[in-house]
Amino acid sequence: MKKLIFATHNQNKVQEVKAVFDGFSIASLADLEYHQEIAETENTFVGNALLKARHVFEVFKTPVFADDSGLEVVALNGAPGIYSARYAGEEKNHTKNNAKLLDALANETNRVAQFITVITYKDATTELTFEGIVKGVIAKQASGSGGFGYDPLFIPEGYNNTFGELPKEIKLRLSHRSRAIAKLHQYLNSIR
Ligand code: IMP
Repeated sequence: MKKLIFATHNQNKVQEVKAVFDGFSIASLADLEYHQEIAETENTFVGNALLKARHVFEVFKTPVFADDSGLEVVALNGAPGIYSARYAGEEKNHTKNNAKLLDALANETNRVAQFITVITYKDATTELTFEGIVKGVIAKQASGSGGFGYDPLFIPEGYNNTFGELPKEIKLRLSHRSRAIAKLHQYLNSIR
C-alpha cells in the first residue's frame, strides 16, 4: 500500500481524509510522533501549504501533502484570508473571530465570500497544488452549532442556512476541503 504523510496536527482533518482514501496508508504528524509546530510564515495559502509539505518531506523523505484553508470576503478585499484562524487575535478564538467579521460587515450589503483550501503534494520529483472552493454569503448573524470556525456565519450558494445549521453530510459534500481532497485523491489514483 502506498505510504503518505498528511502534514497536519489536526485529527479531525486526518479522520476526514482517511475515510475517503482507501488503498493508501496515511500517517499524520501525530502518528509519526512529530509534535513540532511548523510556522506558517508565507503570505499566501499556496505558500503556506508548500512550506509545510517541503518541511515534512525534508524530515521524513516520504511523499507528503499539506493543506491551508481560510475564508475570503469580497467586501474586505479577501480578508480574513490566511489570517482566518487568528483574525481577532493570536488566541484563535472562533467566537471572537465571528464577532469581528460581523462587525466589519455591519454596514455592508455585499456579503459575498468563499472558503478556500489549498493542498500541496510533494514527493522526490513532484510538487503539485490542488484547490477547493465553496462560494456563499456571510449571514447577518450567527446561526447553528454544527461545524467549527466561521460555519455559523457562512451560507453556501444554493442554500438558505449556514454550515452551522445544515446537516454534516451537506457540508462534507460541498466543502472547500472535500473538493481539494477529491482532486488530490484523483491524482494519487492516477499515478499508482
Ligand atoms: P486551516 O488552515 O484548515 O486550519 O483553517 C484556518 C482557519 O480558517 C480556521 O481556523 C477557520 O477559522 C477557518 N476555516 C477553515 N476551514 C473552515 C471551515 O470548514 N469552516 C469554518 N471555518 C473554516
